[in-house]
Amino acid sequence: MGRVFLVGAGPGDPELLTIRAARLLAEADVVLHDALVPEGILRLIGSKAQIIDVGKRNGTKFHTQDEINELLVAYGRANHTVVRLKGGDPSLFGRAGEEIEALFSAGVDFEIVPGITAAMAGAAAARISLTDRRHAASVVFVTARRRAGADEIRWSKLVEAGSTLAIYMPGANYSELCERLRDAGLDGSTPCAVVSAASRGDQQVLWTDLLSLPNHAGLPAPSIVIAGECARAAGEARLPLDAYRHLLAPAGQECEYMRE
Ligand code: SAH
Repeated sequence: MGRVFLVGAGPGDPELLTIRAARLLAEADVVLHDALVPEGILRLIGSKAQIIDVGKRNGTKFHTQDEINELLVAYGRANHTVVRLKGGDPSLFGRAGEEIEALFSAGVDFEIVPGITAAMAGAAAARISLTDRRHAASVVFVTARRRAGADEIRWSKLVEAGSTLAIYMPGANYSELCERLRDAGLDGSTPCAVVSAASRGDQQVLWTDLLSLPNHAGLPAPSIVIAGECARAAGEARLPLDAYRHLLAPAGQECEYMRE
């Protein structure tokens, strides 16, 4: 019997992989990866490995989730070291639940290797502390998209709790998200940081507030929205509130307030 590793690839920068993830990529017989995993990480895969892209591109699904589960079980049974490589952390918004269940019920040995999730990479890029003790005692990882037929997210409960919100899959049109959050009671002046391609060469950060969020064009996917008072702290410490809004800071380029 082989072993299947559900491995977090982190947000994109190969330096943010765990050492265990890098070792497993080098040793694997088979690697099944998502479309989000960048080239620099795929280069760490050993030359003997069979590489299968199970991600979807341009909306075309190469493999259904059931097919992926079947592949994991089949390769695991065939005495292979199998790496199922997922963006960020495997346990967050990555359908690991279905894969874990399939492997359990097939009796295939497996292990989960955590990775740096987009919320952490986004916070690092925007230079904010998600649980700045002056502003929030908790942070919520939440998706703006639910699978059809799934329960609606009770945004008002999240807002009531005063948590920092790390919102995955915000889409390119922020007006719906803004409306939902405002309907749920989040104040229009709540600072928001939008981080696109966190940790990658094309990283962009936009600091704004909830009310003006829809006035901005969507940043390219993948992007994450961090909403909460903590998103104000980094800029405000250095600049008056108005001055740090609407700043776009491409990676590697200092934005205005950082130059001071
Ligand atoms: N398991 C992943 C999340 C998969 S869902 C993780 O832990 O990060 C895909 C969503 O994650 C994207 O729509 C986006 O909201 C977010 N995401 C993934 N990589 C990102 C990155 N480098 N920068 C910003 N957001 C990212």
